[in-house]
Amino acid sequence: MHSFLEKQFGLRGQVALVTGSSQGLGLAMARALGQAGAHVIVNGRDPGKLTPVVHRFAEHGLHAHAIAADLSDRAAVQRLVEESIAWKGHLDILVNNAGIIKRTPAVDHTDADWDAVLNVNLNGVFVACRAAGKHMVARGSGKIINIASLLTFFGGVTVPGYAASKGAVGQLTKALSNEWAAHGVQVNAIAPGYMRTDNTAALQADPKRSLEILQRIPANRWGDPSDLEGAVVFLASHASDYLTGHVMAVDGGWCGR
Ligand code: NAP
Repeated sequence: MHSFLEKQFGLRGQVALVTGSSQGLGLAMARALGQAGAHVIVNGRDPGKLTPVVHRFAEHGLHAHAIAADLSDRAAVQRLVEESIAWKGHLDILVNNAGIIKRTPAVDHTDADWDAVLNVNLNGVFVACRAAGKHMVARGSGKIINIASLLTFFGGVTVPGYAASKGAVGQLTKALSNEWAAHGVQVNAIAPGYMRTDNTAALQADPKRSLEILQRIPANRWGDPSDLEGAVVFLASHASDYLTGHVMAVDGGWCGR
C-alpha cells in the first residue's frame, strides 16, 4: 500500500473483534478489516458457521480467530471481550454488529420479542463497549464502531423493539464518545440503509414494500454488504482519529430525501 494510505487507513498488527460476523454485514466488515491488515476475531452463536469463515479468510491470507458467544447473555459478552483481548494481548477495534429484528405490530409485540431484541441489540452492545472501553481507555487508544440503523433516526413500521434499540445505540455512541474522546478512544456508529441480508429477507420478499423502499433510495438500488467495507475501515483507522460521537449513514442517500 502507498505509504500515505498505509498511514491513514492501514490496520497492520491491530486486533479487531466483529460481533455477528458469520454472515451478512458483519462478515463483509470483518473481511475488510482483515484486508486492511488487522487480525480479526469473528463471532456468532453457531460455531459451525464460524469455522468455514476462518478457513475462507486463511485461503485469502487473512488472519482470523473464531469465538462463539451468545450476545443476549451478559456474562458471555464479557467473556467474549476478555478472550478477544487475551488472544494477542490487546484489542484495538470493536465492531458491535450482531443484531436481531422481530417484525410484529406494537399491539402484538410480546415481552419475549421485546426482551430478545433489547438484550442483543442494546444490552449486549453496552456490555461489550464497557469491557472493551475499559481496556482501550487504559491503553489510551481504541476504536469502537456500533452498527446502528436508519431506525436510529426513524420509527419504522411494526418493529417497535428494534427501533427503540437502534435509537438507543445512537445515544449510547454519543454518551461513550463524550467520556472516552480525551483518552484516545473514538466511538462512532454506522447506520446502514436497506441492505440485502437475512435481516431484511422479509422486506425483500414483499414486492410492495420492496418497491416502496427502492423508490425512496436516491442511489436507486438496495445496498450490498460490501458497501460498508470502506466505512468500517475508515472508522477503524487513524484517518478518523478526530471523528467521534458520529452516526454515519451509509444508505444510498435515504436520509437526505
Ligand atoms: P444477519 O444477516 O441476520 O446476521 C446477523 C449476524 O449476527 C449473524 O452472524 C448471527 O450469527 C449473529 N447473531 C445473531 N444473534 C446473535 C447473538 N445473540 N449472539 C451472537 N451473534 C448473533 O444480519 P445483518 O443484516 O448482517 O445485520 C447486522 C447488523 O446490521 C444488525 O445489527 C442489524 O440490525 C444491522 N442493520 C442491518 C440492516 C440491513 O439492511 N441488513 C440495516 C440496518 C442495520 P448466528 O446466527 O450464528 O448467531
